[in-house]
Amino acid sequence: MTSWVVVGAGAAGCAVAAELASRHAGDVLVLETGPDHPPADHDHGPLVDRTERLRFERLRRRPGKPVESYEQGWGVGGSSLVNAGLLDGAPPQGIPSEPVARVGAVGRALRGATPAAVPANVVRRAGRRVTAADALLRPLLTRQSRVELRTGVRVHRVRFAGRRAIGVETIEGEFVAADHVVLCAGAIRSPAILLRSGVDTPGVGAGAQDHPTAVLTLRLSSPADPAGPIVSSLARFDDSHVVALERLPGDERHGALVTALLDVRSRGQVSLDHDGAPFVELHQFDDRTDLERLARAASKTIGWVTSGRFDAVADAVAIDDRGTSLDMIASTFSRIEQWLLERPTGHRHIAATCPDGVVTDGGVLRGYERLAIADASIFASVPPANPYALVIEQARRVAARLAVAAG
Ligand SMILES: Cc1cc2nc3c(=O)[nH]c(=O)nc-3n(C[C@H](O)[C@H](O)[C@H](O)COP(=O)(O)OP(=O)(O)OC[C@H]3O[C@@H](n4cnc5c(N)ncnc54)[C@H](O)[C@@H]3O)c2cc1C
Repeated sequence: MTSWVVVGAGAAGCAVAAELASRHAGDVLVLETGPDHPPADHDHGPLVDRTERLRFERLRRRPGKPVESYEQGWGVGGSSLVNAGLLDGAPPQGIPSEPVARVGAVGRALRGATPAAVPANVVRRAGRRVTAADALLRPLLTRQSRVELRTGVRVHRVRFAGRRAIGVETIEGEFVAADHVVLCAGAIRSPAILLRSGVDTPGVGAGAQDHPTAVLTLRLSSPADPAGPIVSSLARFDDSHVVALERLPGDERHGALVTALLDVRSRGQVSLDHDGAPFVELHQFDDRTDLERLARAASKTIGWVTSGRFDAVADAVAIDDRGTSLDMIASTFSRIEQWLLERPTGHRHIAATCPDGVVTDGGVLRGYERLAIADASIFASVPPANPYALVIEQARRVAARLAVAAG
């Protein structure tokens, strides 16, 4: 019987395990570095105030700027443990979704300002968060099934016989043998594992992208409902979107409008520091048109906020978390660009760190056998949309092709 090791039980890892199992492809062992967390005590995402569910990656958005603690999900479910679950359209098969039930004051004001605003469609069932593991992996973990999950196992590198993968080695030095290895450790950790493994495929780690954002923080006239949603509404226009946050995680006194550029051209890279830990340089806005297009989108959002529609909702609007007033930048376009360059921010949608050419169409690492990547790393560029659903669909496609090829 063919044996598979899937590294990482995040969005892609759960989808790969489910697809391999549905095709009776062999014994599937999923290795996850984090724990299996109990269900969240509330279901409103993003859960970036839940540190036990996070791993903080080191990332710098622009040269000379401070290194950020960039949150990614840690544990069974990966980033679906903490993400907002915001979708752009229908969810992938097997993933439940529903529109946010109660749009609050921020979302209603956005709707008043633009007809493009609609209640957010989020990954939930009856208002409760459903992780990729809940939807795709847990149902497989029965005694009869050929899928096994091990938690608390940190994969350090892939081992090879010549150019054929024969298994993985954990940080403790344990060797786990397998006929096939599928990396699903996310767009930062999968290239890091490959770099530590000494692969010579050109382009591993190069190409990193995230959706850059312009965040307007609203000091709410009345505190938001702490039991209500955080993300409530979405408006798409041109190559951008605006997300209405009714409150910030852990803070009912502030909401936000987050404008993001979706079609991103700047590219950075993941490399290893001297300890073998990954470090991301994003080079956000190195492509000047990214800056111009995000500034244009932010200027539209600023126009909505200053149109009077938000007067009853917010008694002050800031352009950072220190309360710097919107007036500082609202008057000229060049000041908006300056603001974006000085305090670069973004979603947590990192992708494309092993882009075009690093893997074959079937997800196999070029120049090697029986080693594939199936997570957000292998997008040609960060998708011009919320990526979660696309990560799951792509992982299923890769697993289906691997299963067929393995025969
Ligand atoms: C705060 C936040 C909010 C987001 N909001 C949205 C949203 O609203 N809508 C949307 O579409 N997308 C959203 N996303 C993005 C989406 O969740 C990701 O694109 C998607 O989860 C990426 O899937 P992945 O499988 O590549 O990585 P992940 O889901 O991050 O999974 C990687 C897994 O690998 C494990 N791992 C890492 N290293 C190792 C190792 N060495 N050994 C073993 N296991 C390892 C990790 O613990 C993790 O479980 C958000 C992400 C974050 C972090």
